[in-house]
Amino acid sequence: MADTWITDITHFLDEDGKIISDPVQARKLAEFFAAIIMMATFPNQEYPREYVVKCRRRPNRKYCLEEISGWIEPESDDIYWICPQCQDKGRISNWRGTMWDMSEFDKVVH
Ligand SMILES: [Zn+2]
Repeated sequence: MADTWITDITHFLDEDGKIISDPVQARKLAEFFAAIIMMATFPNQEYPREYVVKCRRRPNRKYCLEEISGWIEPESDDIYWICPQCQDKGRISNWRGTMWDMSEFDKVVH
């Protein structure tokens, strides 16, 4: 059973709201979580292909690369995500107002 990643995205940001650059490990993780935020908050159910986030885990030393599913959990307002293949999963809080928050995007366009 995989652990659940519980992430406060602001821990990965600097004062300007950008992803911290080091340590590299943290930056890579943050980029992964940022991509999930964009995918999960995209206002349309059918998000563009470039928003697809691939699983980064390597169970048995083989890249999983399954598409991550993500959604906003209405009660907590956290983003939940899971890899349907390897069951890697997590929760992201404090994503609202970050530069990857797409939830207001359609209001801007229309
Ligand atoms: Zn996976």
